[in-house]
Amino acid sequence: MKVTIVGCSGSYPGPDSPASCYLLEAEGFKMLLDLGSGALGALQRHTSLYDVDAICLSHLHADHCIDMCAYHVARTYGPQAPYPALPVYAPADAPTRLGDAYGMPDEPAMEFAFDFAALSPGTFEVGPFTVTAGLVNHPVEAYGFRVSHGGRSVAYSGDTGESDELVRLATGVDLFLCEASFVERPGLPADLHLTGRQAAQHAAKAGAGRLVLTHLVPWNDQATVLEEAAGGGYGGPIELARSGAVYELT
Ligand SMILES: [Zn+2]
Ligand SMILES: [Zn+2]
Repeated sequence: MKVTIVGCSGSYPGPDSPASCYLLEAEGFKMLLDLGSGALGALQRHTSLYDVDAICLSHLHADHCIDMCAYHVARTYGPQAPYPALPVYAPADAPTRLGDAYGMPDEPAMEFAFDFAALSPGTFEVGPFTVTAGLVNHPVEAYGFRVSHGGRSVAYSGDTGESDELVRLATGVDLFLCEASFVERPGLPADLHLTGRQAAQHAAKAGAGRLVLTHLVPWNDQATVLEEAAGGGYGGPIELARSGAVYELT
C-alpha cells in the first residue's frame, strides 16, 4: 500500500501544509483519512478529485473534515456531475454537521454527493483495505484507525490524549502516523492531544516499525517536538510529517 501525506498541520493549515488528510492507495483503490482545512487543494497534486473511492473521517473538528463542504461542490456541480455518491465513514452526526456548515437548505443535500455510514468501534472492509476504528480520547466522538492491506498496515491516531486503544490500533504496524500537537509544559490538559514524547511512548508500547509525528501545530517549534519524541523510549525511526511525503509499504 502507498501512503501519501496530503496534510499534516494541526488545528489549522500552516504555511507549508493543509490540515489533516492522508491518501492511502492499493490495487488502484484510493481512500482518504480525514479531509481537513485546505486539504482539497493539495489533494489535487496527488490524484484527480474524481478518482477518490472512499473517505474515513476521524472526528468532526473542522481541521479534520471541513473541506468536505468544498468537496461536495466539486462532486455535485463538477463537469461530469452527477458523480456516484462516495462512501464516507464518519461519526453519526456528520451529515447534519457538514450540512449545517455548508448552509444546505437551497442546495441538493450532502447525501447526494456522499453515502454516509456511521462509524462505531470495530473492523470493516473498504475496497481492498481492512479498516479497524477505535475510540480515542478527545473531547468529541473521535476515532483512531488501523488500515491493513497485503500484510502491511498503517495506524493513524486522529486527535487523542494518551490512549490504550491507540496502542492497540498501532500494535505491530509498519507505519504509525501519530499526532504530536503539544510541546511539554506543566499543566497540559488530559484527553486532548499528545506530546512528541507521549507519541513515542505509544509507538514503543505498540512495537510500531516507523513513527511519523503529525498534526503539527504551526505555533510550535517542530524541532522541539522531534527532540521530545527522541526521549520517549522508542527505538525505531522517528520523523516529522511533511505534506507530499510518500511511504510505500511493501
Ligand atoms: Zn485536530
Ligand atoms: Zn480534534
